[in-house]
Amino acid sequence: MVLTFTNLTMIMDKISSSEEVGGAGDSKVPEVVTRVQGPLVDYDLGDGSEIFDVLVCGGTLGIFVATALSYKGLRVGIIERNIIKGREQEWNISRKELMELVEVGILSEEEMEQIISSDFNPSRCAFESKGEIWVENILNLGISPAKLVDIMKERFVSSGGVIFEGKSLSSISVHDDFAVLNLSDGGSLPCRLVIDAMGNFSPIVRQGFPAGSGPTDRTTYMFTYVDPHFGGPKLEELLETFWDLMPAYEDVVLENLDIMRVIFGIFPTYRNSNALHCFALQVGDASGIQSPVSFGGFGSLTRHLGRLSNGIYEAVSGDLLDARSLQLLNPYMPNLSASWLFQRAMSARPQIDVSPTFINELLFANFESMQDVIQFGPLVKTLGLVMITRPQILPSIFKQAGPGVILNWSGHFVMLGYYTFLSTFIDPVLRPWVESLPLKNKYQWKRYLEAWKYGAGLDYRQGK
Ligand SMILES: Cc1cc2nc3c(=O)[nH]c(=O)nc-3n(C[C@H](O)[C@H](O)[C@H](O)COP(=O)(O)OP(=O)(O)OC[C@H]3O[C@@H](n4cnc5c(N)ncnc54)[C@H](O)[C@@H]3O)c2cc1C
Repeated sequence: MVLTFTNLTMIMDKISSSEEVGGAGDSKVPEVVTRVQGPLVDYDLGDGSEIFDVLVCGGTLGIFVATALSYKGLRVGIIERNIIKGREQEWNISRKELMELVEVGILSEEEMEQIISSDFNPSRCAFESKGEIWVENILNLGISPAKLVDIMKERFVSSGGVIFEGKSLSSISVHDDFAVLNLSDGGSLPCRLVIDAMGNFSPIVRQGFPAGSGPTDRTTYMFTYVDPHFGGPKLEELLETFWDLMPAYEDVVLENLDIMRVIFGIFPTYRNSNALHCFALQVGDASGIQSPVSFGGFGSLTRHLGRLSNGIYEAVSGDLLDARSLQLLNPYMPNLSASWLFQRAMSARPQIDVSPTFINELLFANFESMQDVIQFGPLVKTLGLVMITRPQILPSIFKQAGPGVILNWSGHFVMLGYYTFLSTFIDPVLRPWVESLPLKNKYQWKRYLEAWKYGAGLDYRQGK
């Protein structure tokens, strides 16, 4: 069968093919982390070189963690293969998520107001033949990543941080005491902890993101959820559908548009982040903590920034840099795992006999009681409401997701309830005892308490 993409061909012909679209990453990834037995001896530090406490690879979200750690007094460097700069296209975020940067102490409230380029409330979510739902305070700010990252860069450097731009990480040699980062220009830098903030296509986790257009331009997205498999829709087919739907959606004539940039690609999402090394830790998209439903990776980072920067600081200052101690900073979170069912239920599966309107119905039901973060109580309420008011969609959910996924999800649902109980009732009892423990045990128990709280979504409070 020959597929023709009429609109896609017309639009791609209009756009200069010389423009580079970044973020795809290499398809062939060599072995990046190697273990070297023994301590780092006879290492020629070279003129002016030093051993960093932390080296952050990747400067988009990495600059936030790097600045928070530098503010705490650690010696921090950032290695970025390009120039550290935020894209022009806005990031949407909720005000309370942005406030986390203020609470961590790396942004002032005045600066926060300066980077907000749009503030809209409420947002309209329309569902064909179902109606409209208006939501308040969810992803309702548009902020300028370019301005925010510029502020962070200046803050990072003025707090003593060092930026290595135009240098790409090639490999890491992990010795017993230090890790040495080998760079593409032949240089190398030693450190105590490596933070991998190289995004979804990080060479360490084999997991980039494209940048945006100008400040006055309009950006329109189409997101769709798919399971990768043979016979599934091709990216070009999905892009052609986007152009087919655009005239009705945006009330425009396709031929009249001055299209500046087209980006289409995939967000690979993983159920488990399994990259685990001593001396190395993932943050940002590389860590898999972004919501698998909204992919709001910047918002996810800000929510965890206080927790992560405190934990990393304690790990480095207490010399707790073994794989197990670092794993405690990226713990299992049942609320994140539970949101996988929504992602799966919205991924159209071939050869499954469900109504074509099913996903629309499910989305409508979800949005009626949608929350930014999954918590046990509201989730039970939502499920109860769906069972009472829309029992007819339940068989379709079972068919669409499949029994394996439902069973797996039930486990996360039970764990969500358990973490909620632990954080609400056990945490207050244990906290004074935890404070009295020796350093390593105290570090571990603080991470367990955090995992219960964040894993139950209890870090997120309305009106915070
Ligand atoms: C179309 C689109 C819209 C989005 N909208 C929103 C939104 O509204 N709100 C929101 O919160 N999020 C949004 N996101 C998600 C957000 O952009 C990402 O979560 C965020 O950019 C992830 O940042 P990161 O630093 O983890 O990874 P990346 O953005 O991928 O950055 C990785 C960095 O690592 C560098 N790097 C890679 N490899 C190497 C190497 N070997 N050596 C040195 N440096 C390296 C890269 O140059 C890059 O600077 C959107 C994403 C897309 C694609």
